[in-house]
Amino acid sequence: MTTTTINGHFRAGAGRDGLVPCDLLPAGKFRNGAARHWCRTHQCYWGTKADLAELESSAHMRCKLHASPMGYVLYPEVFDISQYHAITLASADDGLLRLRAKANDGGALLARDVSALAIDTRSVPGLFQPSIVQINITPPAAQTYAAALSSGVALGCIDCSRCAHPHLDLGDFALHPHRRHLCGHCGYDAVHGASACVSTPLQRLRDYALRKPEHIKQWF
Ligand SMILES: [Zn+2]
Ligand SMILES: [Zn+2]
Ligand SMILES: [Zn+2]
Ligand SMILES: [Zn+2]
Repeated sequence: MTTTTINGHFRAGAGRDGLVPCDLLPAGKFRNGAARHWCRTHQCYWGTKADLAELESSAHMRCKLHASPMGYVLYPEVFDISQYHAITLASADDGLLRLRAKANDGGALLARDVSALAIDTRSVPGLFQPSIVQINITPPAAQTYAAALSSGVALGCIDCSRCAHPHLDLGDFALHPHRRHLCGHCGYDAVHGASACVSTPLQRLRDYALRKPEHIKQWF
């Protein structure tokens, strides 16, 4: 979710029934010692006996969810966060992201309803690892963030200790703070935070804005 290349791991967006190819990478071992891969597209491990049997019969290395239709966004709107001093993001009833942002220069209001948003983070150096150039936000991510904020759970942003991608909790994980996280980008399953939290890159951006009240009114 954090590169400019277009591949699977978007789950909502412009299409709802796309078949996106698996993107498998080595990800350590299963508990029984068998080599394991992580499918970044479908967010699951590969390498069970069933997976190996499927490889044998189809001659394709693909995960158990390879035929699951997925939502996708080919070219999400790119948003340069540093140009705006007041930004809100909501997930609307129509399933779109509702972005509202006031420009630094002149305060013009930017209003966009989109199915996904790519936040360009290069203009706020030091917040994320240098290899991370953008953060992609989908409606479920915005929705779970809003729910977490209003319920008052501990929010944070944990970077994966293997691949450095900021971790995004979705669904049930976004309601229950936890210390041990599973990285959706590389499949490393022992990403530990200092304390239990719900992790999302939006929180790091929000915290950054809170440290600069003279320049930024609100980011998310
Ligand atoms: Zn990612
Ligand atoms: Zn897959
Ligand atoms: Zn990782
Ligand atoms: Zn997590």
